[in-house]
Amino acid sequence: MHFGRLSCLFNSHKPNRRSVKWTGLSYEGNCRSCGRLIARAHAGKWRRIAKSDLETVDSTG
Ligand SMILES: [Zn+2]
Repeated sequence: MHFGRLSCLFNSHKPNRRSVKWTGLSYEGNCRSCGRLIARAHAGKWRRIAKSDLETVDSTG
């Protein structure tokens, strides 16, 4: 496992536009630097998706 770019270490990913899809909840795609699955959190801000992250996410729903 290696990281594509330093920005990815700071959870600042850039999507490969060809991979981006609308899931009905959010835009998801693969980072063009590290290839990980990412989702758009805010305009221009993408964060990595991981099952472990989802399990530990703060659910204040
Ligand atoms: Zn990345």
